[in-house]
Formats: sequence, structure tokens, C-alpha cells
Amino acid sequence: MNNLSQDRVLEQLNKVRGPDLDGDLVSLGLVSQIVISGADVMFSVTIDPARAAELEPMRQMAQKAVEKIDGVGKVTVVLTADAAAGQARPTASAAPQVHHSTGKKASPPPPPMPGMPGAGAGKQIDGVPGVRHIIAVASGKGGVGKSTTACNVALGMAANGAKIGILDADIYGPSMPRLLGITGRPQASGGGLLKPLEGYGVKVMSMGFLVEEDTPMIWRGPMVISAITQMLREVDWGELDVLVVDMPPGTGDAQLTMAQQVPLAGAVIVSTPQDLALIDARKGLNMFRKVNVPVLGIVENMSYFACPKCGEHSNIFGHGGARDEAEKLGVPFLGEVPLDMVVRERSDSGQPVVVTAPDSQHAGIYRDIAKAVMSEIEREGTIRSAPKIVME
Ligand code: ADP
Repeated sequence: MNNLSQDRVLEQLNKVRGPDLDGDLVSLGLVSQIVISGADVMFSVTIDPARAAELEPMRQMAQKAVEKIDGVGKVTVVLTADAAAGQARPTASAAPQVHHSTGKKASPPPPPMPGMPGAGAGKQIDGVPGVRHIIAVASGKGGVGKSTTACNVALGMAANGAKIGILDADIYGPSMPRLLGITGRPQASGGGLLKPLEGYGVKVMSMGFLVEEDTPMIWRGPMVISAITQMLREVDWGELDVLVVDMPPGTGDAQLTMAQQVPLAGAVIVSTPQDLALIDARKGLNMFRKVNVPVLGIVENMSYFACPKCGEHSNIFGHGGARDEAEKLGVPFLGEVPLDMVVRERSDSGQPVVVTAPDSQHAGIYRDIAKAVMSEIEREGTIRSAPKIVME
């Protein structure tokens, strides 16, 4: 492992011929975004997306070349039409193809992504076998309690009897390991898939299991998408009623592309009362509407402060607007969660309130929200054996 460095990786890629066999990947300037995490290596090779299938052998050679480095772990090679070679920014039209080696037979390549050349309008995204519904939990910006809500609502659905998985797609700041108190590394299961870890009866996959905490990672668009695609499609989720995707905060390109590339049955927007007023939540709504993903509703978090001593409710963020606002925006209001020390303390110590204090008022609130989300999934008519979204 001490052999592992960017230079060492480049040295190996020096030996791999480029797309037209007229030079090597490095001198042609096609290698970018090398990320080394522990023993694992990820990098991108820029290509013309129209040649993705034809250049698959080149991708495999690049992977094999890097796998030869002593002590190297998992090698992930992404073919991308990224801006590295002065081309278009990463959007759905520059969808990467990603494969990794797990030491076992490789799983089949992911299906062509919408927006790829040849995947014209109206193309649908394949669902994930065994997973009935995939929903996103999103917010217009960070710090509104999106992950806390995603975690507790997911556990609420599990408490209501559903089989649940959580995909922590907030790869900039994965919080599911901490929220659920899970540590460890996912092991390979059969067929080249990774086994998700489990906490409180839900299956969980998070970039936090794959990289050390506090490892600074610089993600670029295509890497974000490929990491998430892998966590979605190369994980042995088994049979799930709902897979809850904790999205990265915000409504930028990465989120938009993700919303396009994950076969979402719907999205839940988490907002604090003041963000609703400040239109952050609306941006979230619009993002999903743009890609034809139904918005299942809004959860107002930190809705009011219930004084633990006197029980008085203080509307420190101007509580109450969310319900009206949701109505104005034409989306269901799924419920409100108070700002409460118990929620914070339990979340931050890996003891989510829904499972560790099931009789508390908060647990009841989350279970009710979970019920509301489930009935919205059904009401939307999004009960589909393989959820699909139609691209514009
Ligand atoms: P996000 O995912 O939007 O960045 P987090 O879920 O990580 O936000 O929450 C940010 C912080 O706010 C965490 O410390 C969390 O414990 C706390 N928090 C979230 N919701 C509540 C709540 N209802 N009451 C008290 N603290 C909360």
C-alpha cells in the first residue's frame, strides 16, 4: 500500500494505449480525478461518449494496469465525457460508465443512462431488482435536518412494518454511519455485489463506510454520479419495500443529474420554516419537477421549540407557514418535527429517537410522517414493481 500514490497510478496508466492506439492515456491527457482512499483507487478517463461501448476494453486495461500495483484494493475506472478535455460539463448527457473490481466476476455493466447518445427522449431508467420504490429525501440547502429526517422517517417506515434500505447519497458529508451508529466496511457478496451494512433492521450503504471519516475528498460531477450509481446498483439490497436515498443538500448540477439517474418514485423535501419563506425548498421542488419526479410532500423540520421545562411551544422560526406554503405550491404537507434537544442528542450519538425512544412524542411524529410518505407513494400511483421515470 505504501506504493500507492498518484504518480504510481499514472506510471501504470502510461502503459495503456489511448482510444486510437496512438499514445498512452497519460500523455494524451485523458486521465483525471485520481482519488486514492486507503488502498482503493478511483479515476476518470475522458472519452467521446459515443465511443463508450467500443472503448470498454481500454477501460478494462486501465483498470488491470492499476490493479497490478502492490497492495492496491478496489480499482474504479470511470469513462466520462467530462470537461477535463475541454468538453461539455457533466450533465445527463455526459453520463459516466463505471465498473469496479471486487476480485469476483464483474457484474454486468449498468444500463445506458438517459441522455447518452442514442438514448433519446422518453427513455426510462431501469429500476433496481427487488426494490419496489426508491424515494429521495432532499433539501434546498444543508443543515436543515435532512439526514436526521431521512433516517428517522426510514426507521418509522420500518417500524410500520416495511422492509427498508437507506442509501446515503450525501457523499460530501455522509452522516448515516453516525446517525445509525454503524461502523465497518461492506463485504463482497456473490455476483460482484457489495453487502450493505445493517443498523436497527435497515440496510444501509454509505460512502462513509468506504472512506475514512475526515478524509478530504474532492468530488467532481461524474464521480459523484458514478459513486452513487454504484451504491445503488452494485449493492445486494435484497427485497426492499422502500429504498430511502438521502440526497446531497442543494439543487445544483450534481443533485439534478442524480435526480435524473436514480429511478425515483418520488421525493420528500425537508425544510425549516424560514427556508420555505426563502424559497430554498421551492428550488428543491422545481428541481424534481423538472425531471418529472413526483414531489411526495414537504416535512417542516425544527418547526417549533417545545420547552422541555414548561412545555410551551415557541415558534422561533415563524412556525405555521409551511402548511400554507405547501398548499400554495400544490404539494402535500407531510408533518412537522419540533426542534428538540432529544432529537439532536440521539441523532448525533447514533441512537435515532424512533428506535431508541419509540414511545416518545417525536417517535410518533416520525412514524406519522412515514405513514404519510407511504400513502403518498401509493396515492401518486407510484406503486410500480420497477419504478421508472420519464426523461424530458
Ligand atoms: P442536513 O442533513 O440537512 O445537513 P442534519 O440532519 O445533519 O442536517 O442535521 C443538522 C443538525 O441539526 C444535527 O446536529 C442534527 O442533530 C440537528 N437536528 C436535526 N433535526 C433536529 C430537530 N428536529 N431537533 C433538534 N436538532 C435537530
